[in-house]
Amino acid sequence: MTDTPVEGGWEPNWVEAEGELCRLIYFSRLAGRISKVDLKNILTRSRVNNARVDVTGALCFDNRFFLQILEGRRLHVNRVFARIVGDPRHSDVSLITFTPVAERLFPSWSMMFIGADQLTRDTCRRFCGVEAFRPERLTAERAAALVRYLAEGAPKASMEETAAETAEETTKETAADQA
Ligand code: FAD
Repeated sequence: MTDTPVEGGWEPNWVEAEGELCRLIYFSRLAGRISKVDLKNILTRSRVNNARVDVTGALCFDNRFFLQILEGRRLHVNRVFARIVGDPRHSDVSLITFTPVAERLFPSWSMMFIGADQLTRDTCRRFCGVEAFRPERLTAERAAALVRYLAEGAPKASMEETAAETAEETTKETAADQA
């Protein structure tokens, strides 16, 4: 980001800052109960909304805690996060990092999903230091490393299935937008 000289000093170039590629990582706690259908609805909605503003990322959920990575232009990541924070389906939203980055971790995923079956004891011990998914123990670097590690080993078939469903949903939404 470059600053612009103005009378009496320097002013940040907000337009450029808003266009900067950023990564935001947070964790939160499930509020109450969530069904598979509710979770699928969150994912479908996320993928449709995020694709519209070129936000990409991943969501981990072990049936208790969420850990999410959002990447995109600062303005758009901010807007998506503001909606997420106000969502009553989770609580105790805690920001780990919101920082400029040179490139995205998951450029082709509007929202990749990583479930409890992938958050094994071994993986949790390796990244969280205990045999349970405890995102409050993660630094920004460890959170990114954990999600990248899981994304690389994630079963491809289930991801392709959900991606196909999302593509269908996005097509419907786009057609509705254009009508
Ligand atoms: P709609 O989906 O049409 O919803 C309208 C309003 O109703 C919103 O305020 C919504 O929060 C609320 N709502 C809808 N369904 C329910 C329900 N079952 N219970 C309570 N309130 C409900 N959204 C994204 O766009 N991108 C993301 O990456 C993303 N990640 C998320 C991660 C988590 C852990 C959670 C809990 C939610 C996430 N969401 C995400 C959803 C987000 O919080 C908003 O609900 C969504 O962005 C609103 O989408 P919409 O404006 O299209 O409204």
